[in-house]
Amino acid sequence: MKFANKRVIVSGLLFSISFFSCQKNEVNSLTPTATADTNTSTTTSKTYPDVDQALWTYFEAFEEAAASRGKQIDLSALGVIGQIEEIEQDHVAGQCTWNSAAPEIVTIDLEFWNSSSNSWKEFVVFHELGHCVLNRDHREDHYSDGTCVSLMRSGLGGCIDNYNSDTRNIYLNELFSPSSIAWVSTIINRWIS
Ligand SMILES: [Zn+2]
Repeated sequence: MKFANKRVIVSGLLFSISFFSCQKNEVNSLTPTATADTNTSTTTSKTYPDVDQALWTYFEAFEEAAASRGKQIDLSALGVIGQIEEIEQDHVAGQCTWNSAAPEIVTIDLEFWNSSSNSWKEFVVFHELGHCVLNRDHREDHYSDGTCVSLMRSGLGGCIDNYNSDTRNIYLNELFSPSSIAWVSTIINRWIS
């Protein structure tokens, strides 16, 4: 959904206790295993002129994840802007800003970027692209073990992040096809609970 007036969507990926309730130690607890860091390459086959070069590998990974699920997304053609800079609001890791008269802007907080693993960087970039490109809103539901169903959780819902090399495929399936995971999570929860 787009709005006529400038609107900022603020990620729930936060550093410490706040209204959004995502804590810094939760971020640290998600330090991925070695195999989870699949995006360590700094080279990409594409260029994104309006995007900070440090984000290119994540933008390309997003396009590849979409393509492998039958969705063709060209972030360059869409004109998405990507930047890494200090976000004034405390404890906010990322933002998607959209304006009906301008390209979508993904902003990743500089402090978060400099202190985070590749997996967490991917989490936040994909979350913001979920807002900016997929028009996803937040999704707060969780599996019966309390882990989040979606990368699009706001941090308000209290679910536990579980994004790692083992779960990456499931979370990306949900990101690009949320309705399919809604059915799966319902069934899984029925079996487990
Ligand atoms: Zn968000």
